[in-house]
Amino acid sequence: MIESIRRRDFLRAGAGVAATLLGCSSSSTPEEKIVASVAELRAATRIVPGAATVEGAGVHLSRTLGGRALADLDPFLLLDEIRTDKRAEYERGFPDHPHRGFETMTYMIDGAMEHRDSVGNRGLLVDGSAQWMTAGHGIIHSEMPRQESGWLHGLQLWVNLPAAHKLDRPRYQDIAPGDIPEVSLAGARARVVAGSAGGVVGAVRGIVQEPTMLDVTLASGDVVEQVLPRTDNAFVYVLEGVAELGAEAKAIPKGSLAVLGAGDAVRLASSAGARVLLLSARPTGEPIARRGPFVMNTQAELQQAFADYRSGALTAM
Ligand code: MN
Repeated sequence: MIESIRRRDFLRAGAGVAATLLGCSSSSTPEEKIVASVAELRAATRIVPGAATVEGAGVHLSRTLGGRALADLDPFLLLDEIRTDKRAEYERGFPDHPHRGFETMTYMIDGAMEHRDSVGNRGLLVDGSAQWMTAGHGIIHSEMPRQESGWLHGLQLWVNLPAAHKLDRPRYQDIAPGDIPEVSLAGARARVVAGSAGGVVGAVRGIVQEPTMLDVTLASGDVVEQVLPRTDNAFVYVLEGVAELGAEAKAIPKGSLAVLGAGDAVRLASSAGARVLLLSARPTGEPIARRGPFVMNTQAELQQAFADYRSGALTAM
């Protein structure tokens, strides 16, 4: 019964989706077949504007996730956007600091930052590059701007690890700009950072909660529909322009995050052009105990993390 109602709603509101997805049924994934039969477009359930925040040694940024407005969206813990051409707002960077229990993803759009860590990794993040770091058991790293002037524009995302993987060995995936595949999604250009879209698998592999991360550039009039696992939590973040989301074409302005409700697929459109990050991942369903740079399941584990940091055991593995 529910299925047939959904199918009717879909036929009324989502004819475009049917045309797009049925048109490529020969190569469709199981998820795409689900959409073709019972598509339910995810709607924006909440819109969160960025809050001005200062982090690290004095870096000015805009926080949509991980702050007072939206503490987390399991498994996503934090989303910060740095976007400034004022050297004083970024030059002090993020000197040595620890992490345990989750993963960090840094996505550079404009500018250069150098990463160094206690495992011995060193990398320069440049325009269009990404770094997915699994802190796991523990890592101490620094993230410092490597530029004297101009724009520094990038994002940092934190993704939780489930209890069974919180103490995994640290891992680091440094992805050069040219190694992030690009696909056309109904005419719009998408960089596939993680997950898969348009038949292409993203550059970042082996992440426990199997995230999807797409960087979608919509020209005026473009409409993109992307299938996401129903069990994923998902959101979009607007980098440029105004995105129109879901069957209602709800307007999401630049710098805002929209939480997506239940459904099989997300529809992104823009009448004047937009650039949008689309993220989804399987929730852990576990309790979160977090303080500063550590994200664990219980207060006792948090205390252990601080004790291990003081004793040096955090990075001894
Ligand atoms: Mn860090």
